[in-house]
Amino acid sequence: MAPCVGLKVDVDTLVGYQRGVPALLDQFAAAGVTATFFFAVGPDRSGMAIRRVLTQRGFIGKMIRNRAPMTFGLKTMLYGTLLPAPLIVASDPGIARAVADAGHEVGVHGWDHIAWHDGVGRWPTDRLRDQLQRAYDTLAGAVGRQPDCFAAPGWQCSPDSLRDHDARALAYASDVRGPAGPFRPRIGDEVFATPQVATNLPTMDEMWGLTARDGEAGVRNWLAAMDGEANVLTVHAEMEGLALPQVLTSFLRQARDRGAVCGPLRDLVATVQRHELPIRAIGPVRLPGRAGWVWSVI
Ligand SMILES: [Zn+2]
Repeated sequence: MAPCVGLKVDVDTLVGYQRGVPALLDQFAAAGVTATFFFAVGPDRSGMAIRRVLTQRGFIGKMIRNRAPMTFGLKTMLYGTLLPAPLIVASDPGIARAVADAGHEVGVHGWDHIAWHDGVGRWPTDRLRDQLQRAYDTLAGAVGRQPDCFAAPGWQCSPDSLRDHDARALAYASDVRGPAGPFRPRIGDEVFATPQVATNLPTMDEMWGLTARDGEAGVRNWLAAMDGEANVLTVHAEMEGLALPQVLTSFLRQARDRGAVCGPLRDLVATVQRHELPIRAIGPVRLPGRAGWVWSVI
């Protein structure tokens, strides 16, 4: 069987949405593939990330290593602090609609990415529900139908966030790291219904400066780490769409040369029967090249 690669695009910021997404649409069209775009729908408060420099181990090193490829620009770094936080999808709903119209799958990547990343595990249920309802409603209004998939900002989840997926009867979620073959997640004694499709390949920002000093080295790492059956590659509109625009095209060409089939994440769950899926425990772990904790198969 040919290896499958689910292409997961996380759109975290306004600049990624307005400039990175159109660039990625061109790259995917040229390669003749479709992908899944997960949108952080609400306010871009990237400036708040500066706070993490003071509070989170490893973040300064990550920022220094990322200086070359993550050219967010000064404005982005001030959103939510000195400048007001602009709403991402509401700034131009036509961009999200163009993604759907081009045949890509569209999903939710939270309402306020920074707030979710920093605190979802401590949120009261009401706040989580409110944030998710706003995100689903706004994205549904933009693309003309209800999104049925979700990817957790910063790979942070909680029992409440997984319960919300089940209540919405999502097709799947991609909230965690680990083997990409679909499974049903378990936290403690609680088993959830919505299948998870985990990101198994490292992200470019995790490799940058550690195992990759340029984009092509990152592509070589991706190809070497590819599983023979199921894979999920997470790219970011801000990085692979803007700062390193050549790497995705290079990866898609070389993956195809190796017989891999690249497409949206829904292809990885299209034929599965939920009751036959394995159940895997998930929880927070540390990953090389990433500050803080991410949720993973454990
Ligand atoms: Zn994100």
